[in-house]
Amino acid sequence: MTDPRYSVLFEPVRIGPVTARNRFYQVPHCTGLGHIRPRADAATRAVKAEGGWAVLCNQETEIHPTSDLVPAAEGRLWDDRDIPALRLMTEQVHEHGSLAAVELVHNGNHAFNNMTRAPILSPSDAVADVFGPQQARALDLEDIATVRGWYRAATQRSLAAGFDIVYVYAGHRMSLLQQFLLPQINSRTDAYGGSLENRARLLREVLEETLEACEGRAAVAMRLAVDEMRGPDGMQAGEEGRAVVEMLADLPDLWDVNVSDWANDSATSRFAPDEGYQIDYMRWVKDVTKKPVVGVGRFTSPDRMVSMVKGGVLDFIGAARPSIADPFLPKKIEEGRIDEIRECIGCNICVSADNMSVGIRCTQNPTMGEEWRRGWHPERIAPKGAQDGALVIGAGPAGLECAMQLARRGYEVTLAEADAEAGGRVRREGGLSGLNAWKRVMDYRLYDLSQRANVNLYTESRLDLFDVIGFDAPNVFVATGAAWRRDGVGRHTRQPVPVDEGAVVLTPDDIMDGTLPPDGTVLIYDDDQVYMGGVLADTLLDRGYEVTLVTTAAVVSPWMENTLEQHRIQTRLIERDVRIIPLHGLAQVSEGTASLTCVYSGRRQEVPCSSVVMVTEKTRETALYDALRAAQAADEAEFTTLELIGDADQPGLIADAVFSGHMAARYFEAPEGAREAAWYRREMVDVVSED
Ligand code: ADP
Ligand code: SF4
Repeated sequence: MTDPRYSVLFEPVRIGPVTARNRFYQVPHCTGLGHIRPRADAATRAVKAEGGWAVLCNQETEIHPTSDLVPAAEGRLWDDRDIPALRLMTEQVHEHGSLAAVELVHNGNHAFNNMTRAPILSPSDAVADVFGPQQARALDLEDIATVRGWYRAATQRSLAAGFDIVYVYAGHRMSLLQQFLLPQINSRTDAYGGSLENRARLLREVLEETLEACEGRAAVAMRLAVDEMRGPDGMQAGEEGRAVVEMLADLPDLWDVNVSDWANDSATSRFAPDEGYQIDYMRWVKDVTKKPVVGVGRFTSPDRMVSMVKGGVLDFIGAARPSIADPFLPKKIEEGRIDEIRECIGCNICVSADNMSVGIRCTQNPTMGEEWRRGWHPERIAPKGAQDGALVIGAGPAGLECAMQLARRGYEVTLAEADAEAGGRVRREGGLSGLNAWKRVMDYRLYDLSQRANVNLYTESRLDLFDVIGFDAPNVFVATGAAWRRDGVGRHTRQPVPVDEGAVVLTPDDIMDGTLPPDGTVLIYDDDQVYMGGVLADTLLDRGYEVTLVTTAAVVSPWMENTLEQHRIQTRLIERDVRIIPLHGLAQVSEGTASLTCVYSGRRQEVPCSSVVMVTEKTRETALYDALRAAQAADEAEFTTLELIGDADQPGLIADAVFSGHMAARYFEAPEGAREAAWYRREMVDVVSED
């Protein structure tokens, strides 16, 4: 039953010639599936349509071989042969009564063209936006007319593929149409350069011609980055951003407005903690146009959504990440199941997959991207088989997810946790600076478990071999986690780092457990290169310490380039006066100093510090599992299932631990080989019918 307070969210809204059944709008987002894995991509969008999203957009869709993004797996509509793959998506979305949208793009100077080896096209001659030796070259007037033809042809193909909404996309600095708008990129002196009217000429032409090509059979959405968050070095909402919207005000059927670049648009909770963080840049848009407006900002609270609509800011609640974390978010609001919403934590692990050109994944929603390959559904799971119950040991993300899914299947579940509170690494990491939103991973699961009569959670219950044997459970899942190493062994050295007597060495676990380093400068030794080193630096700074960060990498937290955070992490640490020493390993820790070695030359230097925090690698906590296996081998215990899951099986991201817990619960009592079979389920290249 829909709470009347939220009924406004379920009003249908007209978008030109089509009507969206409610105000929940999944804006374009990449999946790392795209034209390479179209069945998986279609299934990912379809499950969200089933979950109540009224509009499902695909991802940036290349319109021509001069916009070749290989190895990224985006959409593609180069010619008619690309139509059937996209039709998979539109048909499945339509089956659930939703609208399908396509985000057409020519990436201009952001295209790689590594596969096609076509020239990189740009408003003006310049280095290309993507890293590489090839420069971008300016389009001449004839080229511009040709590009317009490519857009028209791609629009016609979009209609043939069954799309209801066609995007004209000018955002993220990834689109030629936006690149023409920006004087930093467009230095032309002809009719397409100089004044804003001239710089917006191509955008207007493509918009008008897309409307014409659609012939009222599909709506045309205009996606514009109204602010680049670069101050005067980029487009600003209060200046040219607004002027462009005023110029084209009622031409498109819908405005999809956001900030640029992608790192600003998909800001993480660590750097943009507030829901609706983009809204101040676009409050004015509805004053300028009569057409419906969609905007984003990691919206998960229905009250906030209603305030956006009733406050006249947005007509549609746009979402990429909230729809990934919970494909059924609209349905849950509609059915008054607000407490069941699986809220996005703003970690950008979904984004990292696209940046690695692999299928999408999500920390909160382990089924994301697995709808086609494994047949997983975010809200449905097979009922229990012949077994009655299971014991899950450890209530970190892996144990919580495993217990929750087993309980959903109908098993009697006992979850035992050694600590006073459940949550494991999520609770502990969530206490570090900037990571508070990550606690949603446990909050969601603990709430779910609390609603179920077939689960017993025991805290302060560290189980040993005899406890488990005494418990007499035939099915045991061991999720005992992993601990950070103290001895410095990691990527840089496989030998323990010598530590002199009197020197203080700590681990991230110590800091998370509340151990404070002695006064003075803390040297964080980051050989892990993911997020922990940078997060600890912020945490210790917040607690008043001076911090020196030594990393074996060239930059701080290099893996976080994948989550679009690396530059923010490094900028913030520089601004907070952290001494950063890149490209050095740790050779020795003495009282008051640490010896470092250059990773290239081996040259040594001494750095003063009062303590060292080792962020290197983790040791799996397998003692209990090993003992149980040994007991089973010795016929002292008998288990039908004995499985190691989560960080105890393979240390990694929280997303990996959740996935592992989910996998164990899904395949519990599944037919032999079902788990492995999914590895072999791939979208094969058809070499038979190819011309
Ligand atoms: P994961 O990411 O795999 O879920 P975590 O480290 O977050 O791993 O969680 C592991 C949890 O297991 C921790 O909360 C820890 O207290 C708990 N634990 C470890 N050993 C035992 C044990 N023998 N009995 C019960 N709980 C345990
Ligand atoms: Fe949100 Fe993280 Fe899931 Fe992305 S991976 S949707 S940011 S919870």
